[in-house]
Amino acid sequence: MTSEPVRAAEGACPLCGGAVGPEARRCPACGWSLAGVDGRPGPYSARALWWTGAGFLAVYLVTLAIVALTH
Ligand SMILES: [Zn+2]
Repeated sequence: MTSEPVRAAEGACPLCGGAVGPEARRCPACGWSLAGVDGRPGPYSARALWWTGAGFLAVYLVTLAIVALTH
């Protein structure tokens, strides 16, 4: 018995709620891919983080350029 909090995706499909085995990579009921939900972040979240950072940097540089041009 562990006091670990139960993950939402563990043992159940996040899409249809059907029972899935601990080694299953795909829901047998609806075919939903379970890759990336077993404690590891998917590649999409890391890429989205980089694009968010790049977007903020672009806005910062544009603001800096406008301030530099108007002074
Ligand atoms: Zn499912």
